Amino acid sequence: MAHRVLQVTDRLYQYLLDHSLREHPAQAALREATRTHAHAGMQIAPEQGQFMAMLVRLLGARHTIEIGVFTGYSALSVALALPDDGTVLACDISDAYTRVGKPFWDQAGVAHKIDLQLAPAQDTLDARLAAGEAGRYDFAFIDADKTGYDAYYERCLKLVRSGGLIAIDNTLWSGAVAEPAAPGDADTLALQALNTKLHHDPRVDVSMLPFSDGLTLARIR
Ligand code: SAM
Ligand code: CA
Repeated sequence: MAHRVLQVTDRLYQYLLDHSLREHPAQAALREATRTHAHAGMQIAPEQGQFMAMLVRLLGARHTIEIGVFTGYSALSVALALPDDGTVLACDISDAYTRVGKPFWDQAGVAHKIDLQLAPAQDTLDARLAAGEAGRYDFAFIDADKTGYDAYYERCLKLVRSGGLIAIDNTLWSGAVAEPAAPGDADTLALQALNTKLHHDPRVDVSMLPFSDGLTLARIR
């Protein structure tokens, strides 16, 4: 079968960045501050942040959810694209990770939009549902523990309005989802099960993008 996605060499990837990336100085500084972090590979790529900002603008989003903040690059990208009264409900369990990002949220002048909740994301989302926030949100980005994705997805289906969008990261999982998963490989098994479920989920329109590590867009019908 012919490759239907262009193979992106380092040279071509650099070209793409050189010819499209528009980062706020605080985004570039946050990437630099994260570059030497032991888990720097968890950060989304800058062109993905720019793409998510585009989605947020296209949706006219005001209220958004992020599940998995790390040092805050994706939250910063979305917050920069929101109107001044927009919000990011930012869910993470790590003070050590998220603390890195806060000075850069300040630098960009968007800290007031980011409501960081340090607790297991399921608890935060359940509390928001219990508080009557079903349908309040326009956009959600799921990028935390892979075995939790299905639970996050189900909650986001309730919290995000009809016509809103759920973006799910790492759905191609470095290609591992296309191979038989080892019985103990809970992350790959969880992503495979969710990908299969999404394919036929009548509640959403779906598009799986071979972008970065795979990004699935689910638009709520
Ligand atoms: N979106 C981030 C970025 O752009 O840099 C990367 C997120 S990183 C891949 C995953 C994050 O999920 C980590 O910061 C981790 O602390 C968080 N996490 C893991 N388990 C979690 C849970 N049960 N609830 C909330 N966050 C969780
Ligand atoms: Ca990710």
